[in-house]
Amino acid sequence: MMGANSSTPAHERSEEGSAERPPRRTFRFREYTLGPDRRPEAEPVTFEMYCASCYVTGPVSTDAEDGTWWALEHLKKNPSHLDYREHVTRSYRAEAGAWL
Ligand SMILES: [Zn+2]
Repeated sequence: MMGANSSTPAHERSEEGSAERPPRRTFRFREYTLGPDRRPEAEPVTFEMYCASCYVTGPVSTDAEDGTWWALEHLKKNPSHLDYREHVTRSYRAEAGAWL
């Protein structure tokens, strides 16, 4: 989990009789935490295996075992292709916390 600050304009105030000056603007800061998106509507985690020898990719799947099976099939057809890489796609979401 990582924290971050971002600014949001809280309000703009224009003062009477100060047409020649720009409106005064103030900002407040809010704490956010960033972590894996575990909401039901979050996109599922997906896995994709590829061969490090020829860069052919297997299917994108929500089950990591599908990539393992694909790699074993690929190895049967290409006995010298021994190295594989797995790409994992995981959704993260920033959650708003307290105003500072
Ligand atoms: Zn290969």
